[in-house]
Amino acid sequence: RRAAYAALRGLPPITKDGQRITVMVNAGLRDDAAALDLTGADGIGLFRTEFQFLVSATLPQRERQQRLYRDVLDAARDRPVVFRTVDIGGDKALPYMRAEELGEENPAMGWRALRVALERNGLMKAQARALLEAAAGRTLSVMFPMVSEPWEFDAAKKIFDAQRDWIASRHRPLPAQIRYGAMLEVPALAECLDLLLPRLDFLSIGTNDLTQFLFAADRAHPKLAERYDWLSPAILRFLRRVSQPAKERGIPVTVCGEMGGRTLEAMALLGLGIERLSITPIAVGPIKAMVRSLDLAKLRAEMDGWLVRPPANLRETLLSWANAHAV
Ligand code: PEP
Ligand code: MG
Repeated sequence: RRAAYAALRGLPPITKDGQRITVMVNAGLRDDAAALDLTGADGIGLFRTEFQFLVSATLPQRERQQRLYRDVLDAARDRPVVFRTVDIGGDKALPYMRAEELGEENPAMGWRALRVALERNGLMKAQARALLEAAAGRTLSVMFPMVSEPWEFDAAKKIFDAQRDWIASRHRPLPAQIRYGAMLEVPALAECLDLLLPRLDFLSIGTNDLTQFLFAADRAHPKLAERYDWLSPAILRFLRRVSQPAKERGIPVTVCGEMGGRTLEAMALLGLGIERLSITPIAVGPIKAMVRSLDLAKLRAEMDGWLVRPPANLRETLLSWANAHAV
């Protein structure tokens, strides 16, 4: 099987009925960029910049951040890279940042990600400078984690705008293009997404956090790992409801949570109209194989009915459909 997946490296993920799917990888370390060549993926759809912070003994200085970002862009060559600004705090606490002084009872819902970055904005300013300078002459794609209300996206972008203006005022080179996106992983954002969409260049759905918040179920709790299914009507209806208006506006929507790296789950996402996945590198082969065996129009015709009147076990239904249609 592994050999069969390796053979797919040079083949594009196109469905049987001719729909080109974008399959990118999630990454976080310098060496992860090698996964692009190994898998033949379309780019890095989620670069978790906090990894550098987590593996460092001290806060990484701006120059070190910039070197990492430039190396990743170099390794990606002409393929896109989406950098996510730091998602630290909560369970990804940094020993040198002392956020845990607060003694959080619910770290996943605590002082993390953009909530930290907007308050300690020195951190965000340094990261913005590092990203903008690393991408000089190229395209910079940035996304913000845990956006819960539209103003948080605006405030984060403002920090980038100020750094961009500063660099321009020094007549230093800027990125050829800057694209800003939000991660949708807090359900509240879905309710106000229409207000934010006009200002977004892209949207990325983080199904790991989104699922834990939708079901109020800790994503790391072993007793809950099997309890709620990604292939439940609640998740799938939610994903369709948020992705449709974005797509109608021509805003690319990617799913970057672990869900997209599972074959049946990825098939369901395509059935919902999501055409961009960012997944763990090891899943690229199996997902490409699934895409290339899929008659997407046929699946979509079924999916609508299954979501309106969900069968008793949607996973079973999807699985039998997949088996009958040679996925
Ligand atoms: C997510 O929440 O789905 C996600 C992609 O981000 P992380 O797993 O890093 O929280
Ligand atoms: Mg997340």
